[in-house]
Amino acid sequence: MQPISKSNWIEGTILEQKNWTDSLASIKIDAKVNPYISGQFTRIALEINNEIISRPYSYVSAPSDNFLEIVYVKIPNGILTPELSKLKSGDKILVNNNAYGYFIMSEVPEGDNLWMLGTGTGLGVFISLLKTNDPWKRFKKVILIHGVRKKGELTYSDQIAEFNKRYPQQFNYIKSVTREKIDGCLNARIPNAIDNGIFESITNIKISKTSQFMICGNPDMIKETINNLNNKGIEINRRSKPGNITIEKYW
Ligand code: NAP
Repeated sequence: MQPISKSNWIEGTILEQKNWTDSLASIKIDAKVNPYISGQFTRIALEINNEIISRPYSYVSAPSDNFLEIVYVKIPNGILTPELSKLKSGDKILVNNNAYGYFIMSEVPEGDNLWMLGTGTGLGVFISLLKTNDPWKRFKKVILIHGVRKKGELTYSDQIAEFNKRYPQQFNYIKSVTREKIDGCLNARIPNAIDNGIFESITNIKISKTSQFMICGNPDMIKETINNLNNKGIEINRRSKPGNITIEKYW
């Protein structure tokens, strides 16, 4: 918790609160923050019992949008998210003036195809990145893979349909629901599907040392996916040693 200091905080206004499931929601905010880059996160805060309580959230919105957007999991006994979930259009919220992080396209080295692998709310940052021109200009194919527990957590389908309409030859989207059997969806964890080649056979795109990967979401999924990619000779991307796997852990 931080002492109350409003110097870094911009007061924003809630434009919309959308409930995707009982425990998954997103909010759109009007706030005049400093410029950010798609892939970065900010901090969202509320003043609760005279303290500013804040948590980091990646932007789902892109700099070209005239609103800010984040997606969040409502943590039942959490401090911030139960309060966030009560907010309605017109209510006030605090947004950090600055954005942070290096899960951005300029950190991703060149390659032929871009694989974006996300679980749960980890999809959101890819929506922001795919709203920009960079991935589409730089990569022959862009493959977005979203892994969730239940069908209702397959968020942003309208926005994804727009990407598909705009880039039909270039874009591939795979949904995987692990705790329900759903027609049209895989029923596999991401690292396993990398390991057994399911993604390659569905897309007809080979995973190779010239592929680039961006991975975001559940830290155990990230760890296991890195491990399975390492087994194929594909290495993590570091500033000191460029590679093919760029990651963002969510908790
Ligand atoms: P999740 O448990 O991360 O599951 C999302 C997908 O990831 C599911 O398909 C799940 O498969 C898969 N997965 C989980 N562990 C994996 C592993 N080791 N390897 C490969 N795949 C794996 O669900 P979530 O809804 O995104 O989040 C779950 C919990 O995380 C929430 O209860 C929330 O408290 C917490 N969370 C915290 C934050 C935060 O910022 N603190 C943010 C988001 C979520 P299975 O169904 O097979 O497990």
